[in-house]
Amino acid sequence: VAEAQLPPLDRAREILRRTFGHQDFRGLQAQVIAEVLAGRSALAVLPTGGGKSLCYQIPALVRPGLGLVVSPLIALMTDQVAALQQSGVAAARLDSNIDLHERTETWRRIERGELDLLYVSPEGLMQPAMLDRLKKTPLALVAIDEAHCVSQWGHDFRPEYRMLGRLAELFPEVPRLAVTATADARTREDIRGELRLEGAREFVASFARPELILSAERKKGSKEKRVVELVTARPERSGVVYAGSRDGTEKLAQALRDAGAPALAYHAGLDRRLREQRLEEFLEADAAVMVATIAFGMGVDKPDVRFVIHADPPASIEAYWQEVGRAGRDGEPAEGITLYGSADLAWALRRIGEREVDEAVKQVQVRKVRQLYAMLDGVACRAASVRRYFGEEGVTPCGQCDLCVSPPETVDMTEAAQKALSAAHRLGGRFGRGRLVDHLLGKTKDVTDHEASLSTYGIGQELSLAQWRDLTEQLLFEGLLREDPNDGRPLVGIGDAEAVRAVFRGERRVAMRRPAEGYDAST
Ligand code: ADP
Ligand code: ZN
Repeated sequence: VAEAQLPPLDRAREILRRTFGHQDFRGLQAQVIAEVLAGRSALAVLPTGGGKSLCYQIPALVRPGLGLVVSPLIALMTDQVAALQQSGVAAARLDSNIDLHERTETWRRIERGELDLLYVSPEGLMQPAMLDRLKKTPLALVAIDEAHCVSQWGHDFRPEYRMLGRLAELFPEVPRLAVTATADARTREDIRGELRLEGAREFVASFARPELILSAERKKGSKEKRVVELVTARPERSGVVYAGSRDGTEKLAQALRDAGAPALAYHAGLDRRLREQRLEEFLEADAAVMVATIAFGMGVDKPDVRFVIHADPPASIEAYWQEVGRAGRDGEPAEGITLYGSADLAWALRRIGEREVDEAVKQVQVRKVRQLYAMLDGVACRAASVRRYFGEEGVTPCGQCDLCVSPPETVDMTEAAQKALSAAHRLGGRFGRGRLVDHLLGKTKDVTDHEASLSTYGIGQELSLAQWRDLTEQLLFEGLLREDPNDGRPLVGIGDAEAVRAVFRGERRVAMRRPAEGYDAST
């Protein structure tokens, strides 16, 4: 039968099979694709490896006209366009690396209606000359890949993404699809606002990875020794060890080799040929350990990675999930083990402080680092914490992470949490967390008569400054408090109202790990 006569979703499935060679849609793909095929805009949050690209590639092939794909990185565009061309799809990219000849040829194909997919950078797309020509071109859809880049609240803010909001009025008839792997609730709100997707349906996939067995431990003594122990206890298996510095990867790889483990170092400072050679060796080996910086990862797809060890912690929960997520791609059990310490936290905070970016961006990065450490050092199921962070609802404990298997000794802090939440409520979301803690301690500098008269002023003198900071941190992590960026001076307010009520009624307890030696909560 002629493909064009099939209902749209059947045609989509046909293309999935014939062009892409997959039997059926996965997860939310079919729903997202159906929404776009119906001509409606959407926001899709699917985990890495969840098959985001097909969500826009297939509708671009089913719907008449050109599918525009906005992507932040030339490397990503190059990979995707090459893969599409290999599958016989008429795809091209226009970016700063494309020479005039090829550019002219691509435009000729667009004008003849021969091209199905065009990849562009945000700044390239928004150039007036480009927009003029595209206005005369029938468009199937506009896909905005890595849509979290539009949000200052995301972990990878790119100011040029902000311009994409104008697409709503420039192409009002064209469905727009924003996709990302990493969007907590705040980032999703930002994406909707900035990209003018107010009425768009939102599809959030499950971030569950039941094959991953997570654990984290505070660094004690020599990190190198601990990594060697962990790796040699897992012989005949492939793994990735992430280290925070290039130097660190070389040293760790050497220490592992000395202990008899088949370790290779990988970082951006290595000669390209050497990197490719090691990557190939790793991909082909039955058992190899790649000791790498985060330069290692994008596009690396080795299904039988059995463990990912963070010798140094990642930069955020997003990064954590992405990096740990490189294990167990074959669906068989795999471990994610993270070593962390207060020195790492302090180092990460200092690094952020030194960056030459907006104060507001720094504040978000600080926030993300703190949320990561709250998860690492927290007492709640790790998998559940991560999934809640990504906005999943109705999440239950995994039953297999270190915290589920052997819950640490905790202190009940429900009463203190009630005090902090009342205080945040009384302060009406007008102040940051430093002020909230000062308020609880009754130590607000230049306190006003009004503030001093509030019933919550000074009600928390039984805890120390560090303990209140720790608790505030945890309440933010649990979503009981929330923090608004407010141009770099984050304001603390009440979080999820239902959950907060449960704490006040005593139905929900707030527990904190009993502080151990060596962890200084005041850093
Ligand atoms: P993402 O961009 O979400 O990280 P990709 O779009 O790159 O993920 O897809 C990840 C991998 O999953 C690719 O190898 C892709 O071919 C594969 N894939 C995508 N959709 C399906 C499907 N429905 N069935 C089988 N494999 C799929
Ligand atoms: Zn768990």
